[in-house]
Amino acid sequence: MSSTIQRIFIDEKLEPGLILKLSKEDSNYLANVLRLENGAKLKIFNEKYGEFLAEIVSSYHKACEIKILEKLKDTEKLLSIILGFAPIKHYRLCFLIEKATELGVTEFQPVITERTINRNVKIDKLFLTGKEASEQSGRIVTPKFHEQIKIEKFITSYKNHTILAAIESVDAKPFDFELDNDKVVLLVGPEGGFSEREKQLLLSQSNVKPVNLGPRILRAETAVCCLLSSINCKL
Ligand code: SAH
Repeated sequence: MSSTIQRIFIDEKLEPGLILKLSKEDSNYLANVLRLENGAKLKIFNEKYGEFLAEIVSSYHKACEIKILEKLKDTEKLLSIILGFAPIKHYRLCFLIEKATELGVTEFQPVITERTINRNVKIDKLFLTGKEASEQSGRIVTPKFHEQIKIEKFITSYKNHTILAAIESVDAKPFDFELDNDKVVLLVGPEGGFSEREKQLLLSQSNVKPVNLGPRILRAETAVCCLLSSINCKL
């Protein structure tokens, strides 16, 4: 079976033999963009049921119908990685979400800081980015997105966990931390960085460990990739 078979996230009950009617968006993508015809195979998946092979039984651009053929994979148990991030400009934010999804983030938590520019996060658009990145990267569990909160609330929400905070220009160790088995909590700041007050607030918390990502100042989206790559190397 070709590994280039299209994967589609479908948030419904998945079981061999079922006939499902796809959403307008997914139908349009399969019928018009990929021009798949009746009999074409695809993979469908979600966290609850796992991944299945399916075939198109009706390729109509507004309402494709597919038949589920067989189960391919059970759902996956991922390390829980929560990424607290200060929302940056939208097009760079989509890049951040896409790369972080590929690198295993399971929950996105927008964090509003003093220098956050984008204070009106469009969660539905970010969810679509996470969905598409999960389809492309072979993930079965798509990332979850939380409503934005202030940095103080983020710190108290995870007071019982270690928060690995990427803070530039402070005396901090490069990434060599042992990971908690059940949950890794990360925090990256906005384009303008954490304010001095926020840095002191973070450094004053016993559960916050500052992380040094090297001698240069990275863009927030680069810092996210750098931090997550360090974690992926330890898995
Ligand atoms: N304050 C910087 C810009 C911040 S970069 C400036 O003066 O230009 C955006 C975010 O990426 C920072 O808040 C921090 O979370 C992270 N970051 C960037 N470079 C980093 C580094 N070398 N070490 C740790 N974190 C870094």
